[in-house]
Amino acid sequence: MTPASRKIYVAGHRGMVGSALVRALTAKGERDILAIDRSALDLTDQKATRDFLMTEKPDEIIVAAARVGGIEANRSFPAEFLHENLAIASNVIHGAFEAGVKRLLFLGSSCIYPREAPQPISEDALLTGPLEPTNEAYAIAKIAGLKLCQFYRRQHGVCFHSVMPTNLYGPGDNYHPERSHVIPGLIRRFHEAKQRGDSEVVIWGTGTPLREFLHVEDLAAACLRLIEVENPPDWVNAGSGGEVTISELAALIAEATGFEGEIRTDPSKPDGTPRKALDSGKMRALDWTPKIGLRDGLAETCAAYAREHAADRH
Ligand code: GDP
Repeated sequence: MTPASRKIYVAGHRGMVGSALVRALTAKGERDILAIDRSALDLTDQKATRDFLMTEKPDEIIVAAARVGGIEANRSFPAEFLHENLAIASNVIHGAFEAGVKRLLFLGSSCIYPREAPQPISEDALLTGPLEPTNEAYAIAKIAGLKLCQFYRRQHGVCFHSVMPTNLYGPGDNYHPERSHVIPGLIRRFHEAKQRGDSEVVIWGTGTPLREFLHVEDLAAACLRLIEVENPPDWVNAGSGGEVTISELAALIAEATGFEGEIRTDPSKPDGTPRKALDSGKMRALDWTPKIGLRDGLAETCAAYAREHAADRH
């Protein structure tokens, strides 16, 4: 189908991933992008979701809608993380099938893999061991979504498939002080410390866990590539290939925000999984290479944060 003639529904277009997808699709010349606000359609409502999909009948769907949050939010609200994400996956994927949607790309997360999986983690590590407890609820919902896509594809021949990104960051993130992921959480904390002239900033955990970070625009490019592949893998990893410790990350964010004081760790807060590097060989074999390095990406994201949020606190 030519780009101009297909209707693509981006579920979750206001989120960090969804908005990056809309920007990338628009830049590529897609003219018929369907998006609907949460106030007009609650994707946890099965009937409303089905009615919307039956009326709109998109050709393709990218599912970037989810309840997301960092380690504290996942630990504090596991019931909502499991229930809402399961409902969104089930309603959109089944609704898409009923509405005759031929292609659907479901967004998951690297936390679906077992905590003790061999590193870097390949796609076939799925369901080979217990999950990291701090994000078990979210992971189980995402595993269910991935499996729904796999089983609808196997049973009904529809091209429903998934992508599993590593930890993401970029413009449009959630900067909540307790509930966000580490990069937006630390950008805010360092930025505010710099403005107040604080002598130190405290980061959660021991600072030793390793994480792989991918800029959301690189993920959007991976998604656009995947929706063009004729016979994509059922699920495929998308990571940057680089890893940093949380302490190294904090030092980079201090540099990007201009904070020059001391950085202290708080080992009373959870570390989460010690390491979750993805093997992204399959995605790279599809001619995808991430383009935005962590230092540049952080500098740009810090500048965007300062523009978007600094003004409203003065
Ligand atoms: P995770 O990758 O699922 O563990 O998600 P997060 O992005 O929430 O956390 C990544 C790592 O950063 C964990 O080891 C956290 O303990 C650590 N971390 C350090 N400071 C912060 C912070 O201010 N917010 C968050 N969310 N994590 C932090």
